[in-house]
Amino acid sequence: MSDPTDPIDVFSFFCYLLSFMARFSNLLRFIRRKKFPFKFIYSDDYWVDLGQHVFPVMKYRLIYETLIRTGVRKENFVLPQPADDEDLLLVHTQKYLKKLKTGNLSPSEILTLELPYSKELVRFAWLFVGGTILTAEMALKDGVAVHLGGGFHHAFPDHGEGFCVFNDIAIALEKMKKEGKIERGMVVDCDLHQGNGTSFILSRKDYGFTFSIHQMDNYPAEKTSSTVDVGLWSGDGDEKYLSSLREYFPLIYKEFKPDLVFYLAGADPYDDDQLGNLKLTFEGLEERDRIVIEEARKLNLPVAILCAGGYARKVEDTVSIHLNTIKAAQKVQRKYF
Ligand SMILES: [Zn+2]
Repeated sequence: MSDPTDPIDVFSFFCYLLSFMARFSNLLRFIRRKKFPFKFIYSDDYWVDLGQHVFPVMKYRLIYETLIRTGVRKENFVLPQPADDEDLLLVHTQKYLKKLKTGNLSPSEILTLELPYSKELVRFAWLFVGGTILTAEMALKDGVAVHLGGGFHHAFPDHGEGFCVFNDIAIALEKMKKEGKIERGMVVDCDLHQGNGTSFILSRKDYGFTFSIHQMDNYPAEKTSSTVDVGLWSGDGDEKYLSSLREYFPLIYKEFKPDLVFYLAGADPYDDDQLGNLKLTFEGLEERDRIVIEEARKLNLPVAILCAGGYARKVEDTVSIHLNTIKAAQKVQRKYF
């Protein structure tokens, strides 16, 4: 008989324990991978060099890399293609498209866009619209889909504004409607800034419902009219924000009965955002996500989730907020489907 205190036995037991733990964690990872309940839309081409700019383009790649690191399989990602001009023309003017393609935006149009013009920017904008269209299609199929991009809600038919070249949200909604995939679509815009372009484009269209909760004393100076606008003010914080949100959800889902919800889960209502002052905490933003996504899924409404804005002093904070939105969607999807 061997002595249990024998150093060789202790070593063997330790090795066995390590291998057991490794197998157990692999099993957990396997279960997690198997059960991932929806698709992510992402391309390595979600990148454009903007020079020194507050817009953190690198966030898209950082979100993707974190998801891969935490065990999401590559098969869970779907690669978008640039949108067709035909799709862009559902919302934008031929003249605007031509100006973008030929590099003929006026200095004042570039100033309003607040992005440096380049051929790469144009490619980037076309690709993002393709991504949001694909996200809408995948959401209709799986109940939820997440675009690691999109949400350019300040773009108007004939011009871009505030970092937004094309209104990917309105284009995707119009395309789903045109193809008969939906009768009615709803935009739930929880970015810090009002979704002025989307509201303008979808106003007077009875098949489009726009909800925007935003900071009033912030860009855009002139707000357009959404179907429902909830205007908050600097420093309002979690409590005011969440109680305002609860007044409308699930009420507007039940009344309008959309066939598809576009959720703009902007990270910029966050406390440490460089462009905003709504002062929401991580927990407050998570609860926001839960309310919007869960109330929709309880009613079996498909949700296309778009990242939209986010300009935290530390880019990791912006990335964490977007990842928390994904976690909220994952929890809800596992709970109901
Ligand atoms: Zn914003």
